[in-house]
Amino acid sequence: LGGSIARALKRMSDSTVVDEAAFAACLNEISRALLQADVRFASVKDLQANVRTTVNLASLPAGANKRHVITQAVVAELCRMLDPGTPPPFSPTKSKGTTTRPSVVMLVGLQGSGKTTTCAKYAAHHRRKGFSPALVCADTFRAGAFDQLKQNAAKANIPFYGSYAETDPVKVAVDGVETFLRSEQRHDLIIVDTSGRHRQEAALLEEMRQVAEAVRPDLVILVMDASIGQAAFDQARAFKESVPVGAVIVTKMDGHAKGGGALSAVAATKAPVIFIGTGEHVGEFEPFDPKPFVSRLLGMGDLSGLVNKIKDAMPDQQQNTNPEEMVQKLMTGGAFTLRMMYDMFQNLREMGPLGQLFSMLPGGFGGELMAKGREKEGQAKIKRYMTIMDSMTAAELDSTDPKMMNESRIVRIARGSGRQVKDVKEMLEEHKRMAKMMKKMPKMMPNLNNNRRCD
Ligand code: GDP
Ligand code: MG
Repeated sequence: LGGSIARALKRMSDSTVVDEAAFAACLNEISRALLQADVRFASVKDLQANVRTTVNLASLPAGANKRHVITQAVVAELCRMLDPGTPPPFSPTKSKGTTTRPSVVMLVGLQGSGKTTTCAKYAAHHRRKGFSPALVCADTFRAGAFDQLKQNAAKANIPFYGSYAETDPVKVAVDGVETFLRSEQRHDLIIVDTSGRHRQEAALLEEMRQVAEAVRPDLVILVMDASIGQAAFDQARAFKESVPVGAVIVTKMDGHAKGGGALSAVAATKAPVIFIGTGEHVGEFEPFDPKPFVSRLLGMGDLSGLVNKIKDAMPDQQQNTNPEEMVQKLMTGGAFTLRMMYDMFQNLREMGPLGQLFSMLPGGFGGELMAKGREKEGQAKIKRYMTIMDSMTAAELDSTDPKMMNESRIVRIARGSGRQVKDVKEMLEEHKRMAKMMKKMPKMMPNLNNNRRCD
Protein backbone atom coordinates (compact mmCIF):
# COMPACT_ATOMS: atom_id res chain seq x y z
CA LEU A 1 0.00 0.00 0.00
CA GLY A 2 2.69 2.43 1.02
CA GLY A 3 4.33 1.97 -2.35
CA SER A 4 1.30 2.78 -4.41
CA ILE A 5 0.53 5.85 -2.38
CA ALA A 6 4.10 6.97 -2.64
CA ARG A 7 3.80 6.56 -6.38
CA ALA A 8 0.60 8.57 -6.40
CA LEU A 9 2.30 11.27 -4.40
CA LYS A 10 5.22 11.23 -6.75
CA ARG A 11 2.80 11.78 -9.57
CA MET A 12 1.31 14.65 -7.68
CA SER A 13 4.55 16.36 -7.04
CA ASP A 14 4.95 16.07 -10.78
CA SER A 15 1.63 17.75 -11.13
CA THR A 16 3.62 20.56 -12.42
CA VAL A 17 2.98 17.94 -15.09
CA VAL A 18 1.50 19.60 -18.10
CA ASP A 19 -1.20 17.35 -19.43
CA GLU A 20 -2.85 17.71 -22.83
CA ALA A 21 -5.52 20.08 -21.57
CA ALA A 22 -2.96 22.32 -19.92
CA PHE A 23 -0.83 22.16 -23.05
CA ALA A 24 -3.75 23.36 -25.14
CA ALA A 25 -4.50 26.13 -22.65
CA CYS A 26 -0.86 27.18 -22.70
CA LEU A 27 -0.81 27.33 -26.48
CA ASN A 28 -4.03 29.33 -26.48
CA GLU A 29 -2.57 31.84 -24.10
CA ILE A 30 0.50 32.24 -26.27
CA SER A 31 -1.65 32.57 -29.37
CA ARG A 32 -3.67 35.32 -27.76
CA ALA A 33 -0.51 37.25 -26.96
CA LEU A 34 0.69 36.88 -30.54
CA LEU A 35 -2.59 38.03 -32.04
CA GLN A 36 -2.51 41.03 -29.76
CA ALA A 37 1.01 41.71 -31.05
CA ASP A 38 -0.46 41.82 -34.58
CA VAL A 39 0.84 38.48 -35.72
CA ARG A 40 -1.29 37.21 -38.56
CA PHE A 41 -3.95 34.64 -37.68
CA ALA A 42 -2.61 32.23 -40.32
CA SER A 43 0.88 32.41 -38.78
CA VAL A 44 -0.50 31.78 -35.30
CA LYS A 45 -2.33 28.70 -36.57
CA ASP A 46 0.87 27.45 -38.20
CA LEU A 47 2.77 27.99 -35.01
CA GLN A 48 0.22 26.03 -32.99
CA ALA A 49 0.35 23.14 -35.42
CA ASN A 50 4.13 23.08 -35.54
CA VAL A 51 4.57 23.26 -31.78
CA ARG A 52 2.10 20.42 -31.45
CA THR A 53 4.18 18.25 -33.73
CA THR A 54 7.52 19.14 -32.16
CA VAL A 55 6.38 18.68 -28.57
CA ASN A 56 5.24 15.19 -27.75
CA LEU A 57 4.43 15.31 -24.07
CA ALA A 58 4.03 11.56 -23.76
CA SER A 59 7.49 10.82 -25.09
CA LEU A 60 9.32 13.13 -22.70
CA PRO A 61 11.40 11.40 -20.06
CA ALA A 62 10.02 11.39 -16.55
CA GLY A 63 11.15 14.42 -14.65
CA ALA A 64 11.52 16.57 -17.75
CA ASN A 65 10.39 20.10 -17.17
CA LYS A 66 7.52 20.08 -19.60
CA ARG A 67 6.69 23.75 -19.33
CA HIS A 68 10.22 24.53 -20.24
CA VAL A 69 10.02 22.22 -23.23
CA ILE A 70 6.87 23.94 -24.49
CA THR A 71 8.37 27.38 -23.96
CA GLN A 72 11.46 26.46 -25.88
CA ALA A 73 9.43 25.00 -28.70
CA VAL A 74 7.36 28.18 -29.03
CA VAL A 75 10.38 30.44 -28.98
CA ALA A 76 12.23 28.24 -31.47
CA GLU A 77 9.22 28.19 -33.76
CA LEU A 78 8.86 31.99 -33.67
CA CYS A 79 12.56 32.41 -34.38
CA ARG A 80 12.17 30.00 -37.26
CA MET A 81 9.27 32.02 -38.62
CA LEU A 82 11.43 35.11 -38.52
CA ASP A 83 14.07 33.34 -40.52
CA PRO A 84 13.05 33.08 -44.17
CA GLY A 85 15.91 30.65 -44.76
CA THR A 86 17.60 32.96 -47.21
CA PRO A 87 20.07 35.66 -46.23
CA PRO A 88 19.66 39.08 -47.80
CA PRO A 89 20.99 38.95 -51.38
CA PHE A 90 23.53 41.54 -50.45
CA SER A 91 24.91 42.57 -47.13
CA PRO A 92 27.63 45.17 -47.13
CA THR A 93 30.70 43.91 -45.35
CA LYS A 94 34.06 45.43 -45.38
CA SER A 95 37.43 44.56 -44.04
CA LYS A 96 40.18 47.11 -43.98
CA GLY A 97 42.24 47.51 -47.11
CA THR A 98 39.83 45.82 -49.49
CA THR A 99 38.11 47.78 -52.19
CA THR A 100 34.54 46.66 -52.68
CA ARG A 101 32.55 47.41 -55.74
CA PRO A 102 30.26 50.34 -54.89
CA SER A 103 26.88 49.07 -53.74
CA VAL A 104 23.46 50.60 -54.22
CA VAL A 105 20.78 50.07 -51.61
CA MET A 106 17.23 51.31 -52.11
CA LEU A 107 14.72 51.80 -49.29
CA VAL A 108 11.00 51.44 -49.96
CA GLY A 109 7.96 51.69 -47.70
CA LEU A 110 4.83 53.67 -47.04
CA GLN A 111 4.83 57.34 -46.08
CA GLY A 112 5.74 57.77 -42.44
CA SER A 113 7.21 54.30 -42.05
CA GLY A 114 10.59 55.86 -41.31
CA LYS A 115 12.47 55.52 -44.61
CA THR A 116 14.23 58.87 -44.58
CA THR A 117 15.25 58.49 -40.94
CA THR A 118 16.37 54.93 -41.57
CA CYS A 119 18.46 55.97 -44.60
CA ALA A 120 20.58 58.14 -42.33
CA LYS A 121 20.76 55.44 -39.64
CA TYR A 122 21.76 52.80 -42.15
CA ALA A 123 24.39 55.09 -43.62
CA ALA A 124 25.83 56.00 -40.22
CA HIS A 125 25.91 52.35 -39.17
CA HIS A 126 27.91 51.35 -42.23
CA ARG A 127 30.25 54.25 -41.93
CA ARG A 128 31.19 52.92 -38.52
CA LYS A 129 31.94 49.64 -40.30
CA GLY A 130 34.36 51.40 -42.60
CA PHE A 131 32.16 52.31 -45.53
CA SER A 132 31.93 55.64 -47.26
CA PRO A 133 28.17 56.06 -47.66
CA ALA A 134 26.14 58.68 -49.52
CA LEU A 135 22.42 59.44 -49.68
CA VAL A 136 20.18 60.11 -52.65
CA CYS A 137 16.72 61.59 -52.21
CA ALA A 138 14.40 60.19 -54.88
CA ASP A 139 11.23 61.34 -53.16
CA THR A 140 9.98 64.04 -55.47
CA PHE A 141 6.39 63.60 -54.44
CA ARG A 142 6.31 65.12 -51.02
CA ALA A 143 7.23 68.78 -50.62
CA GLY A 144 10.01 69.07 -48.07
CA ALA A 145 11.23 65.50 -48.57
CA PHE A 146 14.61 66.66 -49.80
CA ASP A 147 14.98 69.14 -46.96
CA GLN A 148 14.30 66.40 -44.47
CA LEU A 149 16.91 64.11 -46.00
CA LYS A 150 19.36 67.00 -46.14
CA GLN A 151 18.83 67.69 -42.46
CA ASN A 152 19.21 64.05 -41.48
CA ALA A 153 22.28 63.63 -43.65
CA ALA A 154 23.92 66.85 -42.47
CA LYS A 155 23.40 65.89 -38.83
CA ALA A 156 25.13 62.58 -39.43
CA ASN A 157 27.68 64.24 -41.67
CA ILE A 158 26.87 62.11 -44.70
CA PRO A 159 27.02 63.45 -48.28
CA PHE A 160 23.65 63.71 -50.00
CA TYR A 161 22.13 64.36 -53.38
CA GLY A 162 18.71 65.72 -54.33
CA SER A 163 16.91 68.33 -56.37
CA TYR A 164 14.24 70.93 -55.76
CA ALA A 165 13.52 71.35 -59.45
CA GLU A 166 13.48 67.84 -60.85
CA THR A 167 10.09 66.12 -60.57
CA ASP A 168 10.98 62.77 -62.13
CA PRO A 169 12.02 60.39 -59.33
CA VAL A 170 13.73 58.02 -61.78
CA LYS A 171 15.89 60.84 -63.13
CA VAL A 172 16.90 62.09 -59.65
CA ALA A 173 17.72 58.58 -58.55
CA VAL A 174 19.89 57.86 -61.57
CA ASP A 175 21.61 61.26 -61.44
CA GLY A 176 22.30 60.87 -57.74
CA VAL A 177 23.74 57.37 -58.02
CA GLU A 178 25.92 58.38 -60.99
CA THR A 179 27.13 61.49 -59.23
CA PHE A 180 28.38 59.46 -56.29
CA LEU A 181 29.86 56.71 -58.45
CA ARG A 182 31.89 59.35 -60.28
CA SER A 183 32.78 61.26 -57.14
CA GLU A 184 36.40 61.46 -56.12
CA GLN A 185 35.44 60.56 -52.59
CA ARG A 186 35.08 56.96 -53.71
CA HIS A 187 31.72 56.27 -52.14
CA ASP A 188 31.10 52.60 -51.84
CA LEU A 189 27.58 52.55 -50.40
CA ILE A 190 24.93 54.60 -52.12
CA ILE A 191 21.57 54.67 -50.36
CA VAL A 192 18.47 55.73 -52.27
CA ASP A 193 15.51 57.13 -50.32
CA THR A 194 12.17 56.91 -52.12
CA SER A 195 8.68 58.29 -51.95
CA GLY A 196 6.04 56.68 -49.76
CA ARG A 197 2.87 58.24 -50.97
CA HIS A 198 1.13 58.71 -54.24
CA ARG A 199 -2.27 59.55 -55.54
CA GLN A 200 -2.80 55.80 -55.73
CA GLU A 201 -0.94 52.89 -54.26
CA ALA A 202 -0.58 51.34 -57.71
CA ALA A 203 1.17 54.50 -58.91
CA LEU A 204 3.59 54.35 -55.97
CA LEU A 205 4.42 50.72 -56.66
CA GLU A 206 4.93 51.48 -60.34
CA GLU A 207 7.27 54.32 -59.43
CA MET A 208 9.28 51.98 -57.16
CA ARG A 209 9.51 49.47 -60.00
CA GLN A 210 10.82 52.13 -62.37
CA VAL A 211 13.37 53.52 -59.91
CA ALA A 212 14.62 50.02 -59.14
CA GLU A 213 14.90 49.21 -62.82
CA ALA A 214 16.89 52.36 -63.43
CA VAL A 215 19.36 52.19 -60.53
CA ARG A 216 19.61 48.38 -60.34
CA PRO A 217 20.07 48.24 -56.55
CA ASP A 218 22.09 45.43 -54.98
CA LEU A 219 19.56 45.39 -52.19
CA VAL A 220 16.00 46.68 -51.76
CA ILE A 221 15.01 47.15 -48.13
CA LEU A 222 11.37 47.32 -47.09
CA VAL A 223 10.92 49.71 -44.16
CA MET A 224 7.96 48.98 -41.91
CA ASP A 225 6.55 50.73 -38.90
CA ALA A 226 6.25 48.29 -35.98
CA SER A 227 2.69 49.41 -35.43
CA ILE A 228 1.50 48.54 -38.91
CA GLY A 229 -0.68 45.74 -37.56
CA GLN A 230 -2.59 43.21 -39.59
CA ALA A 231 -2.14 45.16 -42.85
CA ALA A 232 1.54 44.20 -42.90
CA PHE A 233 1.24 41.03 -44.94
CA ASP A 234 -0.69 42.49 -47.88
CA GLN A 235 1.44 45.58 -47.92
CA ALA A 236 4.71 43.71 -47.89
CA ARG A 237 3.46 41.39 -50.59
CA ALA A 238 2.44 44.34 -52.77
CA PHE A 239 5.95 45.81 -52.52
CA LYS A 240 7.54 42.44 -53.16
CA GLU A 241 5.51 42.04 -56.34
CA SER A 242 6.89 45.33 -57.67
CA VAL A 243 10.49 45.33 -56.45
CA PRO A 244 12.86 42.54 -55.33
CA VAL A 245 12.62 43.16 -51.58
CA GLY A 246 15.66 41.46 -50.07
CA ALA A 247 15.51 42.61 -46.45
CA VAL A 248 13.20 44.26 -43.94
CA ILE A 249 13.83 46.97 -41.35
CA VAL A 250 11.23 47.44 -38.62
CA THR A 251 11.08 50.95 -37.18
CA LYS A 252 9.59 52.47 -34.02
CA MET A 253 10.31 49.46 -31.86
CA ASP A 254 10.67 51.97 -29.03
CA GLY A 255 6.89 52.53 -29.13
CA HIS A 256 4.08 50.44 -27.76
CA ALA A 257 3.73 48.20 -30.78
CA LYS A 258 5.17 44.73 -30.40
CA GLY A 259 6.01 44.44 -34.08
CA GLY A 260 4.13 41.29 -34.99
CA GLY A 261 3.77 42.75 -38.47
CA ALA A 262 7.44 41.93 -38.99
CA LEU A 263 6.56 38.24 -39.04
CA SER A 264 4.04 38.96 -41.76
CA ALA A 265 6.58 40.97 -43.72
CA VAL A 266 9.03 38.10 -43.53
CA ALA A 267 6.34 35.62 -44.56
CA ALA A 268 5.20 37.81 -47.46
CA THR A 269 8.62 38.72 -48.81
CA LYS A 270 10.73 35.70 -47.75
CA ALA A 271 13.24 38.33 -46.72
CA PRO A 272 14.88 38.58 -43.29
CA VAL A 273 14.61 41.44 -40.83
CA ILE A 274 18.08 42.95 -40.64
CA PHE A 275 17.75 46.00 -38.37
CA ILE A 276 15.27 47.61 -36.02
CA GLY A 277 14.79 51.30 -35.33
CA THR A 278 14.46 52.17 -31.67
CA GLY A 279 14.11 55.94 -31.70
CA GLU A 280 14.19 59.09 -33.77
CA HIS A 281 17.91 59.65 -33.44
CA VAL A 282 20.47 58.37 -35.87
CA GLY A 283 22.14 56.15 -33.29
CA GLU A 284 18.90 54.47 -32.29
CA PHE A 285 19.33 51.57 -34.65
CA GLU A 286 20.27 47.96 -33.92
CA PRO A 287 21.02 44.80 -35.86
CA PHE A 288 18.04 42.52 -35.56
CA ASP A 289 18.23 39.82 -32.91
CA PRO A 290 15.31 37.38 -33.01
CA LYS A 291 15.32 36.26 -29.36
CA PRO A 292 14.55 39.53 -27.61
CA PHE A 293 12.17 40.34 -30.45
CA VAL A 294 10.30 37.10 -29.85
CA SER A 295 10.09 37.63 -26.12
CA ARG A 296 8.68 41.07 -26.80
CA LEU A 297 6.11 39.57 -29.15
CA LEU A 298 5.01 37.27 -26.39
CA GLY A 299 4.69 40.24 -24.08
CA MET A 300 7.57 39.47 -21.75
CA GLY A 301 10.59 41.46 -20.81
CA ASP A 302 12.76 38.38 -21.00
CA LEU A 303 12.50 34.70 -21.64
CA SER A 304 12.52 33.65 -18.01
CA GLY A 305 9.51 35.91 -17.64
CA LEU A 306 7.86 33.82 -20.30
CA VAL A 307 8.27 30.71 -18.24
CA ASN A 308 6.49 32.38 -15.34
CA LYS A 309 3.76 33.62 -17.58
CA ILE A 310 3.13 30.17 -18.90
CA LYS A 311 3.04 28.90 -15.37
CA ASP A 312 0.38 31.47 -14.56
CA ALA A 313 -1.62 30.41 -17.56
CA MET A 314 -1.74 26.80 -16.44
CA PRO A 315 -5.23 25.87 -15.39
CA ASP A 316 -3.91 23.30 -12.99
CA GLN A 317 -4.40 22.67 -9.33
CA GLN A 318 -2.45 25.74 -8.38
CA GLN A 319 -5.57 27.81 -8.76
CA ASN A 320 -7.18 25.84 -6.00
CA THR A 321 -5.57 23.50 -3.60
CA ASN A 322 -2.09 22.36 -4.36
CA PRO A 323 -2.47 18.57 -4.13
CA GLU A 324 0.78 18.01 -2.37
CA GLU A 325 0.08 20.73 0.13
CA MET A 326 -3.35 19.33 0.67
CA VAL A 327 -2.10 15.83 1.41
CA GLN A 328 0.51 17.31 3.72
CA LYS A 329 -2.23 19.13 5.59
CA LEU A 330 -4.34 16.03 5.89
CA MET A 331 -1.38 13.97 6.99
CA THR A 332 -0.73 16.35 9.82
CA GLY A 333 -4.34 16.23 10.94
CA GLY A 334 -5.59 19.34 9.17
CA ALA A 335 -9.28 19.77 8.45
CA PHE A 336 -10.76 18.50 5.22
CA THR A 337 -12.65 21.51 3.87
CA LEU A 338 -15.42 21.60 1.32
CA ARG A 339 -13.01 23.20 -1.11
CA MET A 340 -10.68 20.26 -0.78
CA MET A 341 -13.53 17.97 -1.62
CA TYR A 342 -14.38 20.14 -4.59
CA ASP A 343 -10.81 19.96 -5.84
CA MET A 344 -10.77 16.22 -5.35
CA PHE A 345 -13.93 15.90 -7.38
CA GLN A 346 -12.49 18.11 -10.06
CA ASN A 347 -9.39 15.96 -10.16
CA LEU A 348 -11.38 12.80 -10.15
CA ARG A 349 -13.31 13.88 -13.20
CA GLU A 350 -10.16 14.80 -15.07
CA MET A 351 -8.20 11.90 -13.61
CA GLY A 352 -5.74 14.41 -12.26
CA PRO A 353 -3.32 13.50 -9.46
CA LEU A 354 -5.79 14.00 -6.65
CA GLY A 355 -8.30 11.86 -8.44
CA GLN A 356 -5.73 9.13 -8.82
CA LEU A 357 -4.90 9.28 -5.15
CA PHE A 358 -8.58 9.32 -4.34
CA SER A 359 -9.22 6.19 -6.32
CA MET A 360 -6.29 4.39 -4.69
CA LEU A 361 -7.26 5.05 -1.14
CA PRO A 362 -8.16 2.01 0.91
CA GLY A 363 -11.55 0.85 2.08
CA GLY A 364 -13.49 1.89 -0.97
CA PHE A 365 -12.78 5.41 -0.05
CA GLY A 366 -15.44 7.84 -1.16
CA GLY A 367 -17.97 5.10 -0.51
CA GLU A 368 -20.63 4.74 -3.11
CA LEU A 369 -19.16 7.51 -5.24
CA MET A 370 -16.39 5.22 -6.33
CA ALA A 371 -18.25 1.94 -6.18
CA LYS A 372 -17.26 -0.44 -8.92
CA GLY A 373 -19.89 -0.93 -11.61
CA ARG A 374 -21.67 2.23 -10.57
CA GLU A 375 -19.24 4.76 -11.97
CA LYS A 376 -21.88 6.55 -14.02
CA GLU A 377 -24.04 7.10 -11.01
CA GLY A 378 -21.03 8.24 -9.03
CA GLN A 379 -20.00 10.71 -11.74
CA ALA A 380 -23.53 12.17 -11.86
CA LYS A 381 -23.46 12.67 -8.11
CA ILE A 382 -20.07 14.30 -8.22
CA LYS A 383 -21.29 16.68 -10.89
CA ARG A 384 -24.37 17.54 -8.83
CA TYR A 385 -22.31 18.11 -5.70
CA MET A 386 -19.96 20.39 -7.59
CA THR A 387 -22.84 22.44 -8.97
CA ILE A 388 -24.07 22.92 -5.43
CA MET A 389 -20.61 23.92 -4.21
CA ASP A 390 -20.39 26.44 -7.05
CA SER A 391 -23.09 28.39 -5.22
CA MET A 392 -21.13 28.53 -2.01
CA THR A 393 -19.05 31.44 -0.85
CA ALA A 394 -15.29 31.20 -0.44
CA ALA A 395 -15.70 31.43 3.31
CA GLU A 396 -18.07 28.49 3.28
CA LEU A 397 -15.75 26.41 1.09
CA ASP A 398 -12.75 27.12 3.28
CA SER A 399 -14.47 26.82 6.62
CA THR A 400 -13.08 24.32 9.10
CA ASP A 401 -16.13 24.74 11.34
CA PRO A 402 -18.75 22.05 10.71
CA LYS A 403 -21.39 24.20 12.43
CA MET A 404 -21.07 26.92 9.83
CA MET A 405 -23.55 25.24 7.51
CA ASN A 406 -26.78 26.34 9.20
CA GLU A 407 -30.30 26.04 7.83
CA SER A 408 -30.44 29.50 6.23
CA ARG A 409 -27.17 29.01 4.41
CA ILE A 410 -28.35 25.65 3.12
CA VAL A 411 -31.58 27.19 1.81
CA ARG A 412 -29.63 29.95 0.08
CA ILE A 413 -27.21 27.49 -1.55
CA ALA A 414 -30.07 25.28 -2.71
CA ARG A 415 -31.79 28.22 -4.35
CA GLY A 416 -28.55 29.49 -5.88
CA SER A 417 -27.71 26.15 -7.43
CA GLY A 418 -31.22 25.29 -8.54
CA ARG A 419 -31.23 22.24 -6.28
CA GLN A 420 -33.35 21.09 -3.39
CA VAL A 421 -32.46 21.50 0.25
CA LYS A 422 -32.22 17.73 0.61
CA ASP A 423 -29.59 17.63 -2.18
CA VAL A 424 -27.45 20.17 -0.36
CA LYS A 425 -27.79 18.15 2.84
CA GLU A 426 -26.82 14.98 1.01
CA MET A 427 -23.67 16.67 -0.31
CA LEU A 428 -22.80 17.91 3.19
CA GLU A 429 -23.31 14.40 4.55
CA GLU A 430 -20.92 13.04 1.94
CA HIS A 431 -18.41 15.67 2.93
CA LYS A 432 -18.72 14.70 6.57
CA ARG A 433 -18.13 11.06 5.71
CA MET A 434 -15.08 11.93 3.70
CA ALA A 435 -13.74 14.27 6.36
CA LYS A 436 -14.03 11.47 8.92
CA MET A 437 -12.13 9.17 6.62
CA MET A 438 -9.48 11.78 6.00
CA LYS A 439 -8.91 12.15 9.70
CA LYS A 440 -7.88 8.51 9.77
CA MET A 441 -5.53 8.92 6.88
CA PRO A 442 -2.28 9.41 8.83
CA LYS A 443 -2.98 6.26 10.81
CA MET A 444 -3.99 4.32 7.72
CA MET A 445 -0.81 5.19 5.96
CA PRO A 446 2.02 5.16 8.46
CA ASN A 447 4.51 4.46 5.69
CA LEU A 448 3.76 7.62 3.87
CA ASN A 449 5.64 9.97 6.12
CA ASN A 450 8.52 7.57 6.43
CA ASN A 451 8.76 7.30 2.69
CA ARG A 452 8.89 11.00 2.31
CA ARG A 453 11.60 11.37 4.87
CA CYS A 454 13.70 8.78 3.11
CA ASP A 455 13.43 10.49 -0.27
P1 GDP B 1 9.24 58.30 -44.25
O1 GDP B 1 8.00 59.04 -44.61
O2 GDP B 1 9.08 56.83 -44.51
O3 GDP B 1 10.45 58.85 -44.87
O4 GDP B 1 9.39 58.41 -42.64
P2 GDP B 1 10.31 59.41 -41.83
O5 GDP B 1 11.71 58.97 -41.85
O6 GDP B 1 10.02 60.82 -42.27
O7 GDP B 1 9.76 59.16 -40.37
C1 GDP B 1 8.46 59.47 -39.99
C2 GDP B 1 8.44 59.80 -38.51
O8 GDP B 1 8.80 58.66 -37.76
C3 GDP B 1 9.46 60.86 -38.15
O9 GDP B 1 8.88 61.71 -37.19
C4 GDP B 1 10.61 60.08 -37.54
O10 GDP B 1 11.33 60.85 -36.59
C5 GDP B 1 9.88 58.95 -36.90
N1 GDP B 1 10.70 57.75 -36.76
C6 GDP B 1 11.38 57.05 -37.69
N2 GDP B 1 11.98 55.96 -37.17
C7 GDP B 1 11.69 55.96 -35.85
C8 GDP B 1 12.00 55.07 -34.76
O11 GDP B 1 12.67 54.03 -34.86
N3 GDP B 1 11.47 55.40 -33.55
C9 GDP B 1 10.70 56.51 -33.39
N4 GDP B 1 10.24 56.76 -32.15
N5 GDP B 1 10.40 57.34 -34.37
C10 GDP B 1 10.87 57.08 -35.60
MG1 MG C 1 10.72 60.21 -46.37
